[in-house]
Amino acid sequence: MAPQSFIIVAIDGGAASGKSSTARALSERFNLLHVDTGSHYRRLTHEMLRRQVRPDDLPALQSILAALRLDTRIEGRCAEMEIDGRTAGGEIRSPEVNASVSHYAAVPELRQALLAYQRGQAGIARRHGFRGLVMEGRDIGSVIFPDADFRFFLRAESGERTKRRANQGFDDRILERDRIDSSRKAAPLTCPPGAIDIDTTPLTLGQVVEKMAAHLAPRLA
Ligand code: C5P
Repeated sequence: MAPQSFIIVAIDGGAASGKSSTARALSERFNLLHVDTGSHYRRLTHEMLRRQVRPDDLPALQSILAALRLDTRIEGRCAEMEIDGRTAGGEIRSPEVNASVSHYAAVPELRQALLAYQRGQAGIARRHGFRGLVMEGRDIGSVIFPDADFRFFLRAESGERTKRRANQGFDDRILERDRIDSSRKAAPLTCPPGAIDIDTTPLTLGQVVEKMAAHLAPRLA
């Protein structure tokens, strides 16, 4: 019997476009390791704020990045980033991190520090026996895995996204972060050519998941 193929699924899109909920659902349905790269940027941002290093202080930023030990802990089907042996808590969703994360994420050197780590998640998923990897972020289909088996780009009208976040009880500056993320030079938020572009505005979460799953299912049958 031929060995089962390993698949990589990239999900990109703006804040509150439905990336995390759909990635979680696909990960459960198809036994894929789920990696939320937004949490990586949040984590590094929290670390820099704690050490009072500004995003424009490149020498300090680089020396801290070089000294951090990044590892991965698997919790269920979710990969959590460890920095010097510790995973994050709710602090990475604080108002301070919400206000600063896009400024740190625009620094090419900080993105570069995460590139090999993020690409390495595929090997971790294989070693742990997952059927594939589902990674969500802003540049997964454009920079991290441009050859991913499936590249989705989720969008939703800004009013709908603001409403979704309010319903979840969050105010995490989604529109302001999207503006900064879309206009930066390094790996901007954009729908890469060839990606499957889904407007989720009129759809329920279940309908979006079914649309995405319909693409994956023939490969995973
Ligand atoms: O996904 P989440 O909204 O938690 O991401 C927080 C921030 O991390 C984004 O607003 C963006 O600035 C940054 N990010 C990024 N590239 C990714 C994932 C997140 O620049 N692949």
